[in-house]
Amino acid sequence: RHGAQTHPHLFFHPELLQQVEYRRRLEDDLRLAVEQRELKLFFQPIVDLHTGLLAGAEALLRWQHSERGAVSPEVFIPLAERIGLIGEIGRQVLDDACRQVAHWRRDGLEIYVSVNVSASQIPEELPPESILETLNSYGLPSHAIALEITEGVLMSNVSVAQNWIAQLRAAGLRIYLDDFGTGYSSLSYLKRFPMDTVKVDKSFIMDMNDDHTLVDAIITMTGSLGLNVVAEGVEEAAQLDLLRAMGCGYGQGYLFSRPVAAADFVATAKRINTE
Ligand code: C2E
Ligand code: CA
Ligand code: CA
Ligand code: CA
Repeated sequence: RHGAQTHPHLFFHPELLQQVEYRRRLEDDLRLAVEQRELKLFFQPIVDLHTGLLAGAEALLRWQHSERGAVSPEVFIPLAERIGLIGEIGRQVLDDACRQVAHWRRDGLEIYVSVNVSASQIPEELPPESILETLNSYGLPSHAIALEITEGVLMSNVSVAQNWIAQLRAAGLRIYLDDFGTGYSSLSYLKRFPMDTVKVDKSFIMDMNDDHTLVDAIITMTGSLGLNVVAEGVEEAAQLDLLRAMGCGYGQGYLFSRPVAAADFVATAKRINTE
């Protein structure tokens, strides 16, 4: 916007104007969608590779726009962060995830749900006390919810992030480091920020057919630090075989299931647990 003011010719460039218009409308639509609770959680199975059984599910937001169709979270989450909506979205996500996992656990599906947390939610928009309150209000044990954070969370404010993580872990929640390997100092973070699990980024799993030394190294290293590993983006049986041979604990990806609506999750869980 500042650029547009200092360079008026840019502002009047028709394509840019269209982009600005498009974004403004998307912002308005997103505000409305949040208000009307139109963002829905889908759930993708996380499978225990030793037993082949369902261990948990990652909650992933979906926005089905009446005219635009599905808008990717890669688009609307950064937008929500910019326009100050991520706090409200995050509270809805946690609430919906807790309600859903409580429902499944009552029906005998003893799984956990992991929830994605953005750097801009920490700590004010998602204080540990309010997370624990939400869990409590659904009668959930603290291990029923895991929180997925990225290196961005850790980099934004080291001592704040350390405190936030420490308080939640002390209360029994598990913290997962998401997109592991895509940052530039992952290893040092594992020492500075005690965590439970790392999720190996799907780009490494996709490269495994060519070269699996990196994934092998990550699994060995995290194992020696006492951390669990989830391999993301497992699409092929050959990848699964390799991961199993390397001793990878958990897997997630289209090979097991795409993210599905809550209503379809129990059938998906049954399929995974019986095949
Ligand atoms: P992420 O947390 O890394 O989520 C994993 C992404 O990989 C998801 O994309 C999932 O659908 C996709 N995926 C899973 N298995 C496979 C596979 O086998 N192959 C391929 N190619 N992709 C696979 P999705 O749902 O589009 O979400 C994109 C990103 O949006 C997420 O990446 C996360 O950063 C963000 N996001 C989604 N929901 C939320 C949310 O509730 N809160 C926040 N803060 N961020 C969210
Ligand atoms: Ca199985
Ligand atoms: Ca994630
Ligand atoms: Ca990820």
